Amino acid sequence: MEEIKKTASKTNKKNKKKPSPAVKALKIFGTLVLSLFLIVIITGSIFVTALTIYVLNFADTSDTVNLDRSVVSSNISRFLYENPDYDENDPESQEYLLYYALRNQQKKIQWVDLEDIPQHVRDAFVYTEDERFYSHDGVDFKRTFAAIIRTLTGITQGGSTITQQTIKNITGDDEVSGTAGVERKIREIFRAINVEKTYTKEDILQCYLNIISLNTWEHDIIGVQAAANFYFGKDVSELSLAEAAVLAGMTTSPANYNPYDNPERYKVRQKYCLDHMLENGAISDDEYEQALNEEIVVTGDPDYSSTTIYEDETVDQGPTSYFMDEAIEQAIEIIAERSGIDTSVAQTRLYDGGYTIYTTVDMEMQTRVEEEMQDASNFQSYYFDDDELLAGFIAMDYEGNVLAVVGGRDEKTESRIWNNATDAQRSPGSCIKPIASYAPALDQDLMTWSTLFRDEPITIIEDGEERQWPVNYSETGSSENWSYNNYFTWQMLMRSLNTCPAQLIEQMTPAYSYNFLVEKLDITTLTEDDINYSPVTVGGLTNGIKLEELVGAYMIFGNGGKKYEVSYISRIEDAAGNVIYEKNEGYKQAISESTAYVMNEMMQTVITQSQGTGRYARLNTTTLAGKTGTSSDWNDLSFVGCTPEYVSGVWIGYDQLERIPTSQYQNIGAIWKNIFGDIAESEETKDFEMPDSVVEARYCTRTGLLAGNGCSSTATGYYKQTNVPEYCSGSHW
Ligand SMILES: [Zn+2]
Repeated sequence: MEEIKKTASKTNKKNKKKPSPAVKALKIFGTLVLSLFLIVIITGSIFVTALTIYVLNFADTSDTVNLDRSVVSSNISRFLYENPDYDENDPESQEYLLYYALRNQQKKIQWVDLEDIPQHVRDAFVYTEDERFYSHDGVDFKRTFAAIIRTLTGITQGGSTITQQTIKNITGDDEVSGTAGVERKIREIFRAINVEKTYTKEDILQCYLNIISLNTWEHDIIGVQAAANFYFGKDVSELSLAEAAVLAGMTTSPANYNPYDNPERYKVRQKYCLDHMLENGAISDDEYEQALNEEIVVTGDPDYSSTTIYEDETVDQGPTSYFMDEAIEQAIEIIAERSGIDTSVAQTRLYDGGYTIYTTVDMEMQTRVEEEMQDASNFQSYYFDDDELLAGFIAMDYEGNVLAVVGGRDEKTESRIWNNATDAQRSPGSCIKPIASYAPALDQDLMTWSTLFRDEPITIIEDGEERQWPVNYSETGSSENWSYNNYFTWQMLMRSLNTCPAQLIEQMTPAYSYNFLVEKLDITTLTEDDINYSPVTVGGLTNGIKLEELVGAYMIFGNGGKKYEVSYISRIEDAAGNVIYEKNEGYKQAISESTAYVMNEMMQTVITQSQGTGRYARLNTTTLAGKTGTSSDWNDLSFVGCTPEYVSGVWIGYDQLERIPTSQYQNIGAIWKNIFGDIAESEETKDFEMPDSVVEARYCTRTGLLAGNGCSSTATGYYKQTNVPEYCSGSHW
């Protein structure tokens, strides 16, 4: 209260001393001149600095915007995929095919040549938007200078010529405030000058009139032809002067001034347009009066169409595939990140920005996997009524390019929905073992192919008490006691016993394993609670793992230990053809080449041995290395497989955590084979290549050491050249 009183009395005191009006006016005038002077200086320096930077950086790179008819379709973002039949020697052959053009179904785009647009329609737009259009060189510097000051003060509208607006519409380079806005403006000025050198005024006006947005709140209407159709049920050639003035008048804010949503307000803008036409001598007094008095009849017919082009763009392609959903998500993330904008803004920009997006999809594989996922017999051992079971599948190449992804078992009826392969976070069960314990342990030479481990528990402390952990699981779901038998490393993995990974984690520490998963293999769903025995030994993760990331981690077993980024997109170009994203070809060497190959051979035994948990996935002609995963309560079943060309995986489970009746379902390895077996069998490369850094050798089955002269029972093992066991010196006859 006291504060307020003080301030109030101060103000009163000030008010008592009133300066004479003349002095006051002089003071205000002086301040005004000084402020203006400062604004000019500041603006000028920023302008000159930005201009210099721009000229030095970009001016030498040719940056001409294309204004021909193709911009109508290029304003829509397009997703492309590689043409499997592409022939580089055939000039007719196209390297990329259009997958899904992203577009609003309500959007109407109809190209019309300038010669079919009446003079009074052209004039209406020119004299409303850019009076000096025919005399300037693409930029109206009088208006631009004022616009730059407004941009710096946060107002982002205005000052653009028809040439500049056309460029803005094509490139999607939206107005922003502040210095970034000035830089954008300068970029636009250079492009405008370039465009004016390349194209005639008629070319520019033609493009402008075809891509201008004349939308309502609900209908996305692009170009004068679509607008003439929608608003007046006419061809653009039939528009009256009054109607043309309505369309030209609404351009500053179509939603607020279109005659469909604003039955009165549009008239103010119509008159504004007619006034400017009259002032510039484009129409006579009589025409002016007649137009003002003409009754405007708005039909608002979204189906009326006098001219239609690009038939292929109007075909309804139905809901997007699971693959496209992911490509869209990734494109939005990339655009948001590259432009420093919010994802919701990036989404709008993706849909209208004219981006060309090169996807990594293998269309044939995607279609096949979709079909197999919808085939219930691929999942069930015999018929029983259970459409509640969920599934996800994903396949990629060894550089992380996703080739196929299907996130559900039903036919997809909606775009951008939940995906069990990329959204769901579920327990990987024993699928965690190769990546969390065996690979990092082998990489550190904690064991070899034939190191003997005893099937016995380790002692962990839980709630302050010592505990023997972990138990093993049988394939039928029961817990099994420890056998105390000795097994070689590869046998431990092949039979998916829990004791060996626990012993390895004990040596490495859970924190080491956790960091390996997070830093080397890019697993993003782990929490600090996962720095513990159960999560990294048997996959009892707090939040689970995404199948996409699990399969992505397994790529190291088929490519010599390299972890690439998982991606649905290989390249994105903006509307002007600039590459804004190129998939990073770089990788992390997660494990050595020799570790990767020995792991691969071990995981092949999971498939080839009669006791291997993945034996039902075995292929006839193509080598497969893989691992099954079962969560401790049988709620989640997974299989990840590496074939010479692909790494792929499947997951099944219920929405609510519930035990899967495994007796009624096919083995998870068999489910993988049902979905992907034919594709894998058709791979051209049939086997993995053993690198020079790995040695194939016979070992003594008594000791696990390299077979010596005295060893009668031997078997083949695979060893890192840098860590081959000693020869067995025993006499094992
Ligand atoms: Zn021996």
